[in-house]
Amino acid sequence: MASTYNPFENAQAQFDKVADMIQLEQDSREFLRQPMRELHFMIPVKMDDGTSKTFRAYRIQHSTARGPAKGGLRFHPHETADTVRALSMWMTWKTAVVDIPLGGGKGGIVCDPRTMSLSEQERLCRGFVRQSFDLLGPNVDVPAPDVMSNGQHMLWMLDEYETIARGHYPGVITGKPVGSGGSLGRTEATGYGVVYIVDDLLKNEDIDIKETTASIQGFGNVGEYAARLYSDLGGTVISVSSYDLADKASYTFRKKTGCNIEELVSIKDNFGCIDKEKAQSLGYELLPGEAWLSEDVDILFPAALENQITPENFSCVSGNVKVIAEAANGPVTPDCDPLIEKRGIHLAPDFLANAGGVTVSYFEQIQCNMNYFWSKEEVLEKLRYTMSKAFSGVYQLSKERGVYLRDAAYMIAIDRVNKAVKQRGWL
Ligand code: GLU
Repeated sequence: MASTYNPFENAQAQFDKVADMIQLEQDSREFLRQPMRELHFMIPVKMDDGTSKTFRAYRIQHSTARGPAKGGLRFHPHETADTVRALSMWMTWKTAVVDIPLGGGKGGIVCDPRTMSLSEQERLCRGFVRQSFDLLGPNVDVPAPDVMSNGQHMLWMLDEYETIARGHYPGVITGKPVGSGGSLGRTEATGYGVVYIVDDLLKNEDIDIKETTASIQGFGNVGEYAARLYSDLGGTVISVSSYDLADKASYTFRKKTGCNIEELVSIKDNFGCIDKEKAQSLGYELLPGEAWLSEDVDILFPAALENQITPENFSCVSGNVKVIAEAANGPVTPDCDPLIEKRGIHLAPDFLANAGGVTVSYFEQIQCNMNYFWSKEEVLEKLRYTMSKAFSGVYQLSKERGVYLRDAAYMIAIDRVNKAVKQRGWL
Protein backbone atom coordinates (compact mmCIF):
# COMPACT_ATOMS: atom_id res chain seq x y z
CA MET A 1 0.00 0.00 0.00
CA ALA A 2 1.48 3.35 -1.00
CA SER A 3 1.67 5.63 1.99
CA THR A 4 2.29 9.28 2.51
CA TYR A 5 3.75 8.56 5.93
CA ASN A 6 7.50 8.60 6.37
CA PRO A 7 8.46 5.95 8.97
CA PHE A 8 11.52 7.91 10.13
CA GLU A 9 9.39 11.00 10.77
CA ASN A 10 6.98 8.72 12.65
CA ALA A 11 9.80 7.28 14.77
CA GLN A 12 11.10 10.79 15.51
CA ALA A 13 7.60 12.06 16.35
CA GLN A 14 7.15 9.23 18.88
CA PHE A 15 10.57 9.97 20.36
CA ASP A 16 10.01 13.74 20.55
CA LYS A 17 6.67 13.27 22.31
CA VAL A 18 8.22 11.20 25.08
CA ALA A 19 11.38 13.34 25.22
CA ASP A 20 9.04 16.23 26.12
CA MET A 21 7.17 14.12 28.68
CA ILE A 22 10.39 13.14 30.51
CA GLN A 23 12.06 16.50 29.91
CA LEU A 24 15.03 14.86 28.22
CA GLU A 25 18.13 17.05 28.08
CA GLN A 26 18.69 18.85 24.76
CA ASP A 27 22.05 17.19 24.02
CA SER A 28 20.51 13.72 24.42
CA ARG A 29 17.57 14.61 22.19
CA GLU A 30 19.83 15.78 19.44
CA PHE A 31 21.99 12.67 19.66
CA LEU A 32 19.26 10.02 20.08
CA ARG A 33 16.81 11.19 17.44
CA GLN A 34 19.02 10.11 14.55
CA PRO A 35 21.27 7.16 13.64
CA MET A 36 24.94 7.24 14.61
CA ARG A 37 26.25 5.65 11.43
CA GLU A 38 24.94 4.79 7.95
CA LEU A 39 26.27 2.83 5.02
CA HIS A 40 24.53 3.18 1.64
CA PHE A 41 25.92 0.92 -1.06
CA MET A 42 25.32 -0.96 -4.29
CA ILE A 43 25.51 -4.71 -4.76
CA PRO A 44 26.22 -5.96 -8.29
CA VAL A 45 24.74 -9.41 -8.90
CA LYS A 46 25.12 -11.77 -11.87
CA MET A 47 21.66 -13.05 -12.76
CA ASP A 48 20.90 -16.55 -14.04
CA ASP A 49 20.10 -15.32 -17.56
CA GLY A 50 23.63 -13.93 -18.00
CA THR A 51 22.71 -10.27 -17.35
CA SER A 52 23.83 -8.31 -14.28
CA LYS A 53 21.74 -6.21 -11.93
CA THR A 54 22.67 -3.65 -9.32
CA PHE A 55 20.79 -3.62 -6.02
CA ARG A 56 20.71 -0.68 -3.62
CA ALA A 57 21.37 -1.57 0.02
CA TYR A 58 21.61 0.06 3.44
CA ARG A 59 23.00 -0.86 6.83
CA ILE A 60 22.21 1.73 9.47
CA GLN A 61 23.33 1.72 13.10
CA HIS A 62 21.15 3.88 15.30
CA SER A 63 22.92 3.22 18.58
CA THR A 64 25.77 1.15 19.96
CA ALA A 65 25.63 2.69 23.43
CA ARG A 66 24.30 -0.47 25.12
CA GLY A 67 26.11 -3.00 22.92
CA PRO A 68 26.72 -3.99 19.30
CA ALA A 69 24.17 -2.70 16.79
CA LYS A 70 21.54 -5.40 16.41
CA GLY A 71 18.67 -5.84 14.02
CA GLY A 72 17.29 -7.49 10.95
CA LEU A 73 18.01 -7.18 7.26
CA ARG A 74 14.88 -6.65 5.15
CA PHE A 75 14.40 -7.56 1.52
CA HIS A 76 11.74 -5.32 0.06
CA PRO A 77 11.12 -3.68 -3.33
CA HIS A 78 10.02 -0.43 -1.64
CA GLU A 79 12.83 -0.18 0.91
CA THR A 80 14.11 3.35 1.53
CA ALA A 81 16.86 4.90 3.64
CA ASP A 82 14.23 6.50 5.87
CA THR A 83 12.45 3.19 6.49
CA VAL A 84 15.73 1.61 7.54
CA ARG A 85 16.56 4.63 9.71
CA ALA A 86 13.24 4.28 11.53
CA LEU A 87 13.64 0.55 11.95
CA SER A 88 17.17 0.95 13.31
CA MET A 89 15.89 3.46 15.86
CA TRP A 90 13.07 1.15 16.92
CA MET A 91 15.66 -1.63 17.40
CA THR A 92 17.50 0.55 19.93
CA TRP A 93 14.32 0.95 21.98
CA LYS A 94 13.50 -2.75 21.52
CA THR A 95 16.76 -4.09 22.95
CA ALA A 96 16.59 -1.50 25.73
CA VAL A 97 13.00 -2.20 26.80
CA VAL A 98 13.71 -5.93 27.20
CA ASP A 99 17.05 -5.00 28.76
CA ILE A 100 19.42 -7.09 26.68
CA PRO A 101 22.98 -5.78 26.20
CA LEU A 102 22.67 -4.79 22.56
CA GLY A 103 22.17 -1.63 20.54
CA GLY A 104 19.99 -0.97 17.50
CA GLY A 105 20.62 -1.33 13.79
CA LYS A 106 18.84 -2.36 10.63
CA GLY A 107 19.59 -3.22 7.04
CA GLY A 108 17.62 -3.25 3.86
CA ILE A 109 18.12 -4.35 0.27
CA VAL A 110 15.82 -2.97 -2.43
CA CYS A 111 14.84 -6.26 -4.06
CA ASP A 112 12.03 -8.76 -4.35
CA PRO A 113 13.30 -12.24 -3.43
CA ARG A 114 9.96 -13.69 -4.58
CA THR A 115 11.03 -13.04 -8.15
CA MET A 116 14.64 -14.25 -7.78
CA SER A 117 16.06 -17.77 -8.03
CA LEU A 118 17.83 -19.24 -4.99
CA SER A 119 21.24 -18.87 -6.63
CA GLU A 120 20.51 -15.19 -7.38
CA GLN A 121 19.46 -14.72 -3.75
CA GLU A 122 22.67 -16.40 -2.60
CA ARG A 123 24.84 -14.09 -4.74
CA LEU A 124 22.90 -11.08 -3.39
CA CYS A 125 23.48 -12.16 0.23
CA ARG A 126 27.17 -12.76 -0.34
CA GLY A 127 27.42 -9.41 -2.13
CA PHE A 128 25.79 -7.68 0.84
CA VAL A 129 28.50 -9.00 3.15
CA ARG A 130 31.33 -8.19 0.77
CA GLN A 131 30.16 -4.57 0.56
CA SER A 132 29.44 -4.06 4.26
CA PHE A 133 32.13 -6.30 5.79
CA ASP A 134 33.96 -3.45 7.55
CA LEU A 135 30.82 -2.45 9.40
CA LEU A 136 29.82 -5.92 10.60
CA GLY A 137 31.19 -8.13 13.39
CA PRO A 138 30.03 -10.10 16.45
CA ASN A 139 31.00 -7.18 18.66
CA VAL A 140 30.11 -4.43 16.20
CA ASP A 141 26.91 -5.04 14.25
CA VAL A 142 24.92 -8.28 14.04
CA PRO A 143 22.20 -8.72 11.36
CA ALA A 144 19.28 -11.18 11.55
CA PRO A 145 16.27 -12.20 9.44
CA ASP A 146 13.43 -9.76 8.85
CA VAL A 147 10.79 -9.14 6.19
CA MET A 148 11.31 -11.71 3.39
CA SER A 149 14.75 -12.84 4.64
CA ASN A 150 15.32 -16.16 6.40
CA GLY A 151 17.80 -18.55 8.00
CA GLN A 152 19.22 -19.73 4.69
CA HIS A 153 20.03 -16.13 3.73
CA MET A 154 21.73 -15.66 7.11
CA LEU A 155 23.88 -18.77 6.62
CA TRP A 156 25.08 -17.63 3.20
CA MET A 157 26.01 -14.30 4.75
CA LEU A 158 27.78 -15.98 7.66
CA ASP A 159 29.73 -18.15 5.24
CA GLU A 160 30.80 -15.12 3.19
CA TYR A 161 31.87 -13.27 6.34
CA GLU A 162 33.88 -16.24 7.60
CA THR A 163 35.46 -16.76 4.19
CA ILE A 164 36.71 -13.16 4.17
CA ALA A 165 37.67 -13.15 7.87
CA ARG A 166 39.30 -16.60 7.69
CA GLY A 167 37.86 -17.97 10.91
CA HIS A 168 34.67 -18.93 12.65
CA TYR A 169 32.50 -16.06 13.81
CA PRO A 170 29.07 -17.57 14.54
CA GLY A 171 28.07 -14.49 16.54
CA VAL A 172 28.25 -12.19 13.50
CA ILE A 173 24.74 -13.08 12.45
CA THR A 174 21.69 -14.58 14.16
CA GLY A 175 18.58 -16.40 13.02
CA LYS A 176 20.82 -19.09 11.51
CA PRO A 177 19.28 -22.50 10.80
CA VAL A 178 19.24 -24.94 13.73
CA GLY A 179 22.27 -27.22 13.42
CA SER A 180 24.32 -24.44 11.80
CA GLY A 181 24.62 -22.24 14.87
CA GLY A 182 20.95 -21.33 15.17
CA SER A 183 18.87 -21.53 18.32
CA LEU A 184 15.83 -23.69 18.79
CA GLY A 185 12.81 -21.45 19.24
CA ARG A 186 14.20 -18.59 17.11
CA THR A 187 11.69 -19.19 14.31
CA GLU A 188 8.78 -19.05 16.74
CA ALA A 189 10.23 -16.29 18.93
CA THR A 190 8.78 -13.09 17.46
CA GLY A 191 5.22 -14.41 17.04
CA TYR A 192 5.25 -16.20 20.37
CA GLY A 193 6.63 -13.11 22.10
CA VAL A 194 3.75 -11.02 20.78
CA VAL A 195 1.28 -13.49 22.28
CA TYR A 196 3.16 -13.62 25.62
CA ILE A 197 2.67 -9.86 25.86
CA VAL A 198 -1.01 -10.08 24.85
CA ASP A 199 -1.55 -12.89 27.37
CA ASP A 200 0.00 -10.81 30.18
CA LEU A 201 -1.99 -7.75 29.13
CA LEU A 202 -5.28 -9.68 29.08
CA LYS A 203 -4.55 -11.24 32.49
CA ASN A 204 -3.91 -7.80 33.97
CA GLU A 205 -7.17 -6.55 32.50
CA ASP A 206 -9.08 -9.62 33.77
CA ILE A 207 -9.93 -10.84 30.28
CA ASP A 208 -9.86 -14.59 29.61
CA ILE A 209 -7.89 -15.25 26.41
CA LYS A 210 -10.13 -18.27 25.72
CA GLU A 211 -13.11 -15.92 25.40
CA THR A 212 -11.40 -13.70 22.84
CA THR A 213 -11.36 -13.51 19.05
CA ALA A 214 -8.71 -12.02 16.80
CA SER A 215 -7.97 -10.82 13.29
CA ILE A 216 -4.43 -10.92 11.90
CA GLN A 217 -2.86 -8.90 9.10
CA GLY A 218 -0.04 -10.84 7.43
CA PHE A 219 0.83 -14.50 7.55
CA GLY A 220 4.61 -14.46 7.31
CA ASN A 221 6.78 -15.81 10.11
CA VAL A 222 5.44 -13.41 12.76
CA GLY A 223 1.75 -13.72 11.86
CA GLU A 224 1.96 -17.50 11.61
CA TYR A 225 3.53 -18.09 15.00
CA ALA A 226 1.38 -15.49 16.73
CA ALA A 227 -1.68 -17.26 15.28
CA ARG A 228 -0.40 -20.66 16.36
CA LEU A 229 0.28 -19.76 19.99
CA TYR A 230 -2.82 -17.59 20.34
CA SER A 231 -4.97 -20.53 19.13
CA ASP A 232 -3.07 -22.99 21.35
CA LEU A 233 -3.90 -20.78 24.33
CA GLY A 234 -7.60 -21.03 23.42
CA GLY A 235 -8.17 -17.81 21.43
CA THR A 236 -10.16 -17.90 18.18
CA VAL A 237 -8.66 -16.41 15.01
CA ILE A 238 -11.55 -15.23 12.84
CA SER A 239 -9.54 -13.94 9.90
CA VAL A 240 -6.07 -13.68 8.45
CA SER A 241 -4.94 -11.51 5.56
CA SER A 242 -2.08 -12.23 3.19
CA TYR A 243 -0.47 -10.69 0.12
CA ASP A 244 -0.79 -12.38 -3.25
CA LEU A 245 2.17 -11.60 -5.51
CA ALA A 246 0.51 -12.81 -8.72
CA ASP A 247 -2.52 -10.54 -8.17
CA LYS A 248 -0.43 -7.76 -6.54
CA ALA A 249 -3.19 -7.53 -3.93
CA SER A 250 -3.96 -8.64 -0.40
CA TYR A 251 -6.90 -10.82 0.60
CA THR A 252 -8.56 -11.52 3.90
CA PHE A 253 -9.48 -15.14 4.62
CA ARG A 254 -12.30 -15.48 7.09
CA LYS A 255 -13.92 -18.36 8.95
CA LYS A 256 -16.39 -17.12 11.53
CA THR A 257 -16.23 -20.39 13.47
CA GLY A 258 -12.45 -19.97 13.76
CA CYS A 259 -9.54 -20.51 11.36
CA ASN A 260 -7.63 -23.76 11.57
CA ILE A 261 -4.10 -22.37 11.67
CA GLU A 262 -2.37 -25.67 10.83
CA GLU A 263 -4.59 -25.93 7.75
CA LEU A 264 -3.83 -22.35 6.62
CA VAL A 265 -0.10 -22.91 7.13
CA SER A 266 -0.29 -26.01 4.91
CA ILE A 267 -1.62 -23.90 2.00
CA LYS A 268 0.75 -20.92 2.20
CA ASP A 269 4.14 -20.38 0.59
CA ASN A 270 7.43 -19.38 2.25
CA PHE A 271 6.54 -15.69 1.96
CA GLY A 272 3.19 -16.06 3.73
CA CYS A 273 0.96 -16.05 0.64
CA ILE A 274 -2.17 -18.18 1.19
CA ASP A 275 -3.51 -20.11 -1.82
CA LYS A 276 -6.92 -18.56 -2.63
CA GLU A 277 -8.48 -21.53 -4.40
CA LYS A 278 -7.43 -24.02 -1.74
CA ALA A 279 -8.63 -21.73 1.04
CA GLN A 280 -12.03 -21.34 -0.57
CA SER A 281 -12.38 -25.08 -1.03
CA LEU A 282 -11.65 -25.44 2.69
CA GLY A 283 -14.59 -23.14 3.46
CA TYR A 284 -12.83 -19.79 3.96
CA GLU A 285 -14.59 -16.63 2.78
CA LEU A 286 -12.42 -14.54 0.48
CA LEU A 287 -12.64 -10.80 1.29
CA PRO A 288 -10.72 -7.69 0.23
CA GLY A 289 -7.30 -7.20 1.83
CA GLU A 290 -8.35 -4.38 4.15
CA ALA A 291 -11.30 -6.38 5.60
CA TRP A 292 -9.08 -7.78 8.39
CA LEU A 293 -9.17 -4.35 10.08
CA SER A 294 -12.95 -4.03 10.37
CA GLU A 295 -13.62 -7.48 11.86
CA ASP A 296 -15.76 -7.52 14.97
CA VAL A 297 -13.06 -9.05 17.19
CA ASP A 298 -11.37 -8.39 20.54
CA ILE A 299 -7.79 -8.29 19.30
CA LEU A 300 -6.15 -6.95 16.16
CA PHE A 301 -2.68 -8.21 15.27
CA PRO A 302 -1.14 -6.07 12.51
CA ALA A 303 1.75 -8.41 11.54
CA ALA A 304 2.75 -7.07 8.13
CA LEU A 305 4.38 -3.70 7.45
CA GLU A 306 4.47 -0.13 8.77
CA ASN A 307 1.73 2.55 8.37
CA GLN A 308 -1.26 0.20 8.23
CA ILE A 309 -3.58 1.77 10.84
CA THR A 310 -4.10 5.48 10.22
CA PRO A 311 -6.73 8.08 11.21
CA GLU A 312 -8.35 7.49 7.80
CA ASN A 313 -9.05 3.80 8.30
CA PHE A 314 -9.29 3.74 12.10
CA SER A 315 -12.99 4.63 11.91
CA CYS A 316 -13.70 1.15 10.52
CA VAL A 317 -12.18 -0.55 13.60
CA SER A 318 -14.96 -2.27 15.56
CA GLY A 319 -16.06 -0.74 18.85
CA ASN A 320 -15.47 -4.16 20.45
CA VAL A 321 -11.72 -4.17 19.84
CA LYS A 322 -9.92 -4.17 23.20
CA VAL A 323 -6.31 -4.75 22.18
CA ILE A 324 -4.13 -3.80 19.23
CA ALA A 325 -0.93 -5.85 19.36
CA GLU A 326 1.70 -4.37 17.07
CA ALA A 327 3.40 -7.51 15.79
CA ALA A 328 4.93 -5.59 12.87
CA ASN A 329 7.25 -2.61 13.26
CA GLY A 330 5.44 0.73 13.05
CA PRO A 331 1.99 -0.48 11.89
CA VAL A 332 0.15 2.37 13.69
CA THR A 333 0.92 5.95 12.62
CA PRO A 334 1.61 8.49 15.40
CA ASP A 335 -1.44 10.58 14.47
CA CYS A 336 -3.63 7.51 15.13
CA ASP A 337 -2.30 6.95 18.67
CA PRO A 338 -4.54 9.63 20.26
CA LEU A 339 -7.62 8.05 18.66
CA ILE A 340 -6.70 4.59 19.97
CA GLU A 341 -5.98 6.00 23.42
CA LYS A 342 -9.26 7.93 23.44
CA ARG A 343 -11.26 4.80 22.66
CA GLY A 344 -9.59 3.05 25.60
CA ILE A 345 -8.03 0.35 23.41
CA HIS A 346 -4.89 -1.17 24.93
CA LEU A 347 -2.02 -0.86 22.50
CA ALA A 348 0.89 -3.32 22.89
CA PRO A 349 3.64 -1.22 21.26
CA ASP A 350 5.77 -2.79 18.52
CA PHE A 351 9.18 -2.51 20.10
CA LEU A 352 7.92 -4.30 23.21
CA ALA A 353 5.44 -6.69 21.58
CA ASN A 354 7.75 -7.98 18.87
CA ALA A 355 10.98 -8.03 20.90
CA GLY A 356 10.89 -11.84 21.13
CA GLY A 357 12.90 -12.29 17.95
CA VAL A 358 15.84 -10.18 19.01
CA THR A 359 15.70 -11.66 22.50
CA VAL A 360 16.22 -15.16 21.13
CA SER A 361 18.87 -13.75 18.77
CA TYR A 362 20.68 -12.67 21.93
CA PHE A 363 20.21 -16.19 23.35
CA GLU A 364 21.57 -17.56 20.07
CA GLN A 365 24.73 -15.49 20.47
CA ILE A 366 25.17 -16.72 24.03
CA GLN A 367 24.78 -20.35 22.93
CA CYS A 368 27.22 -19.82 20.03
CA ASN A 369 29.77 -18.27 22.40
CA MET A 370 29.48 -21.26 24.76
CA ASN A 371 29.24 -23.70 21.84
CA TYR A 372 26.53 -25.40 23.88
CA PHE A 373 22.90 -25.34 22.79
CA TRP A 374 19.80 -25.31 24.96
CA SER A 375 16.57 -27.25 24.49
CA LYS A 376 13.59 -25.49 22.92
CA GLU A 377 11.79 -25.58 26.28
CA GLU A 378 14.73 -23.82 27.94
CA VAL A 379 14.86 -21.13 25.23
CA LEU A 380 11.10 -20.48 25.37
CA GLU A 381 11.08 -20.41 29.16
CA LYS A 382 13.83 -17.77 29.16
CA LEU A 383 11.98 -15.86 26.45
CA ARG A 384 8.75 -15.88 28.41
CA TYR A 385 10.59 -14.66 31.52
CA THR A 386 12.28 -11.80 29.62
CA MET A 387 9.10 -10.68 27.87
CA SER A 388 6.94 -10.84 31.01
CA LYS A 389 9.52 -8.91 33.04
CA ALA A 390 9.64 -6.19 30.39
CA PHE A 391 5.86 -6.09 30.11
CA SER A 392 5.34 -5.79 33.83
CA GLY A 393 7.76 -2.82 34.05
CA VAL A 394 5.99 -1.04 31.20
CA TYR A 395 2.49 -1.85 32.45
CA GLN A 396 3.24 -0.69 35.99
CA LEU A 397 4.75 2.56 34.79
CA SER A 398 1.77 3.19 32.53
CA LYS A 399 -0.58 2.73 35.50
CA GLU A 400 1.57 4.83 37.89
CA ARG A 401 1.92 7.72 35.46
CA GLY A 402 -1.45 7.29 33.77
CA VAL A 403 0.18 7.13 30.34
CA TYR A 404 -0.37 5.16 27.14
CA LEU A 405 1.57 1.88 27.01
CA ARG A 406 3.67 3.06 24.07
CA ASP A 407 4.76 6.15 26.01
CA ALA A 408 5.61 4.10 29.10
CA ALA A 409 7.71 1.70 27.00
CA TYR A 410 9.52 4.67 25.44
CA MET A 411 10.16 6.24 28.85
CA ILE A 412 11.92 3.09 30.05
CA ALA A 413 13.86 2.51 26.85
CA ILE A 414 15.01 6.11 26.34
CA ASP A 415 16.10 6.34 29.97
CA ARG A 416 18.22 3.17 29.69
CA VAL A 417 19.90 4.27 26.46
CA ASN A 418 20.44 7.81 27.69
CA LYS A 419 22.06 6.52 30.88
CA ALA A 420 24.44 4.33 28.84
CA VAL A 421 25.34 7.29 26.63
CA LYS A 422 26.07 9.49 29.66
CA GLN A 423 27.91 6.80 31.61
CA ARG A 424 30.18 6.20 28.62
CA GLY A 425 30.93 9.91 28.68
CA TRP A 426 29.68 10.54 25.14
CA LEU A 427 27.59 13.51 26.23
N1 GLU B 1 14.05 -8.54 12.62
C1 GLU B 1 13.64 -8.74 13.98
C2 GLU B 1 13.14 -7.44 14.59
O1 GLU B 1 12.73 -6.53 13.91
C3 GLU B 1 14.72 -9.42 14.80
C4 GLU B 1 16.02 -8.71 14.89
C5 GLU B 1 17.15 -9.52 15.47
O2 GLU B 1 16.94 -10.68 15.82
O3 GLU B 1 18.24 -8.97 15.55
O4 GLU B 1 13.07 -7.32 15.77
